[in-house]
Amino acid sequence: MTVAYTSELAETLSADVLERLLRYVRIDTQSDRAHAQSPSTPGQLELGRLLVDELLGLGLSDAAQDTDGFVTATLPGNVDGAPVIGLLAHLDTSPDESGASVEPLVHRDYDGGVLTLPRRGTVLDPEHMPELAPKVGHQLVTTSGDTLLGADDKAGMAEVMAAVAYLAAHPELPRATVRVGFTPDEEIGEGAKLFDIEAFGAACAYTLDGSEAGEFTDETFTAASADVVIRGVEVHPGFATGKLVNAARLAGRVLVALPPELTPEATSERDGFIHVYAVESTAGEATIRTIVRDFDDERLAEHVALLRRIAEEVVATEPRAQLEVEVKHQYPNMRTFLDQHPGVSDAAEEALRREGFEPKRVPIRGGTDGSILSARGLPTPNLFTGGHEFHSVREWASVQDMASAAAVAVRLAGVWAERAG
Ligand SMILES: [Zn+2]
Repeated sequence: MTVAYTSELAETLSADVLERLLRYVRIDTQSDRAHAQSPSTPGQLELGRLLVDELLGLGLSDAAQDTDGFVTATLPGNVDGAPVIGLLAHLDTSPDESGASVEPLVHRDYDGGVLTLPRRGTVLDPEHMPELAPKVGHQLVTTSGDTLLGADDKAGMAEVMAAVAYLAAHPELPRATVRVGFTPDEEIGEGAKLFDIEAFGAACAYTLDGSEAGEFTDETFTAASADVVIRGVEVHPGFATGKLVNAARLAGRVLVALPPELTPEATSERDGFIHVYAVESTAGEATIRTIVRDFDDERLAEHVALLRRIAEEVVATEPRAQLEVEVKHQYPNMRTFLDQHPGVSDAAEEALRREGFEPKRVPIRGGTDGSILSARGLPTPNLFTGGHEFHSVREWASVQDMASAAAVAVRLAGVWAERAG
């Protein structure tokens, strides 16, 4: 039995959302951390050009792609004095798994069992995927087993496009002006930095880049990186007696002294962590690279102070060794900025309710484009897309949930139209 859609609107949008997802995922837009320009990879420009053509076809006559790869377009509103809102999705897919030659598979009427994909022995087992188990009766989209799907964030993109297409075809529905924005290089943390907020001209925006249906995020990690650099004294081991100071061994002692309960693998929900993601070392010099995360700025500072104190204590046992700790701010918790604009999250919750959801506010253990955009002055919370298992060959999406997300985007334009004044 096929599961019912959350609304007639969602059912109407479902075929278009699916068709768009299947089209967009076939263009390889994997971003590249070792980039020299924006966008980091040419596939993002190719997908952007396709989107410009489609937006022009919908009648959004100012649709354009800029030299950095950003695609923007305007769907004019029809209610005087309503604010301008933005709908955003990112063009790139994760560099962590192949995004080339994606061959999406559509599974009608999911029966609740194990889905065995044709390549690499990849299986989707509801026993290990609590979010898959309740999707019995849904139409699911998966990979063929050996690539990403790219639902992160092409599901979000398909939903924005389907919502705008629907609104453009229904001028009788009151709507705020919608600015569409597709951004490059979210996965490598670059796109939002170059986004021209002033030219975009929206009062607020929503990324469609979340996961489970009904979820909404106005809170992300606050994030720093901290590199611990230890310099020892390098001497030929044959002449080392009493002279060699081994930085690698000191680094090992720092690693052992870091609290195991303060790691990503030992924390969840609202707990922060110190994550050692790389150690580079010779006897002469060792670098421990970490990222430090929390939801609270003060606790983030405490984690950084703890890391520093442990490194200082270890290195202090060897007076000839030197220590440097380089801390860099990465992105802030968007909550700090969204709290100043409560209407933005309220409107999202209202749109979710109109689609039949009891909104679930879920803090993201990570960042989004909205973390950077909110800090730069464009309040931007995040809405669900219906995609799951991002950044892996097990990535999948529910057509029912994607249709609901597109319907929420349509309703959002209506909610803001009522706020004219
Ligand atoms: Zn994403």
